[in-house]
Amino acid sequence: MIKAQRGTKDIIGEDTFTWQKIQDNARRIFQSANYQEIRTPIFEATELFKRGVGDSTDIVNKEMYTFSVGGKEKSENSITLRPENTAGVVRAYIEHNISRQSPPQKFWYFGPMFRYERPQAGRQRQFHQIGIELFGVESPTADAEAILMAEEFLKSTGVDNLEVELNSLGCPKCREKYRNQIKEVLKPYLDKLCDDCKVRYEKNPLRILDCKDENCQKIFEQDEIKNVILSDYICQECSEHFEKVQEYLNALNIKYTRNKMLVRGLDYYNRTVFEIKSNSLGSQNAVCGGGRYDGLVEMLGGTPTPAVGWAMGVERLFELVEKQQAPKLDYFVVSKYSKEAIKLCQELRNKGYSCDFDMQNRKFAKQLEKAAKISKYAIILGEDEIEKGFYTVKDLSTGAQEQKTTL
Ligand code: ATP
Ligand code: MG
Repeated sequence: MIKAQRGTKDIIGEDTFTWQKIQDNARRIFQSANYQEIRTPIFEATELFKRGVGDSTDIVNKEMYTFSVGGKEKSENSITLRPENTAGVVRAYIEHNISRQSPPQKFWYFGPMFRYERPQAGRQRQFHQIGIELFGVESPTADAEAILMAEEFLKSTGVDNLEVELNSLGCPKCREKYRNQIKEVLKPYLDKLCDDCKVRYEKNPLRILDCKDENCQKIFEQDEIKNVILSDYICQECSEHFEKVQEYLNALNIKYTRNKMLVRGLDYYNRTVFEIKSNSLGSQNAVCGGGRYDGLVEMLGGTPTPAVGWAMGVERLFELVEKQQAPKLDYFVVSKYSKEAIKLCQELRNKGYSCDFDMQNRKFAKQLEKAAKISKYAIILGEDEIEKGFYTVKDLSTGAQEQKTTL
């Protein structure tokens, strides 16, 4: 027996209706706000993620499904299953010269992502993300709009008891100063930090604040460290930008809390970063994460373009939404005359009704039983009906029966 791979799941049975509802809502909400769907390939050049996600991230260092194709182990043949979608969307944005269109250029996506992680509740190796990317606007309206879209989409799925956490990472300039301060104040504790943080200390010190290790967390509680973390390090311009984002969120009545420890896992963020968390998901509680990434388009070879976006984990969202049931068919044709039954189905489906029939010519009672389970009405097509040209329509919720000449 060959089974599904660890960390992957079949989406099957009743669950599919809930997945469809989530996807339908996404399409409706994003299209109504002028976002275009984008579907990029599931695999890309490995180099794209190394540069786009960042060499010092867990994703690139530990979690990528990378393999070489075409026999030769040349680096240009190295491909990777996408661990996230921003890098791919930015690649497509550059490749198709989208920056020539008048900004903003707004995209949304839905699709599977792949990360080699330890499977556990809320953490799979193939999982799905819904996300948006908004290009071309430096103004804080774009940050607010992005967060608004996440809120509106979540609301449409009936999920509303989530917490928005917000922070500003500042620009590369003010971050540089902050990074040095963090390094300095953490220096005496370097030995006590976890192994990952020791590496981060050199490669990407801010990421240390994101560490979930309990010991590291305790170290951050020390006054002198806390003071640096809580300091207002961002420059005047970044500060004004962040003020505006908050002003818009207030006007939109979107509740948020400031979390100065929030730095996000990926290298490319600047200024606004945010996460949306649920307190009913256990330790994998982040449903959505995003922020501004003004440097990424240029870094991947495009013209400098401000951008902001987010990604949401659909499996985690799935846990929170009310589950859908299979919708009932409009009609089920109950008949031992297979040819007439299939023809009637063809006719009804062409008219826009959902309908099915029994392909195995089972006994009348069995067919009716099946109809009652999956359909609103049964159409009984017996000898009499066929000869005289009418249908007996049975309402399967009340049992009432009616003879009709048209449907
Ligand atoms: P985490 O801290 O949970 O690992 P992350 O920072 O790696 O999250 P992002 O890259 O920001 O996650 O992805 C956005 C969202 O995608 C997450 O908030 C989460 O809902 C979802 N997600 C990320 N990794 C997984 C996974 N392995 N399985 C299921 N969902 C995931
Ligand atoms: Mg992760």
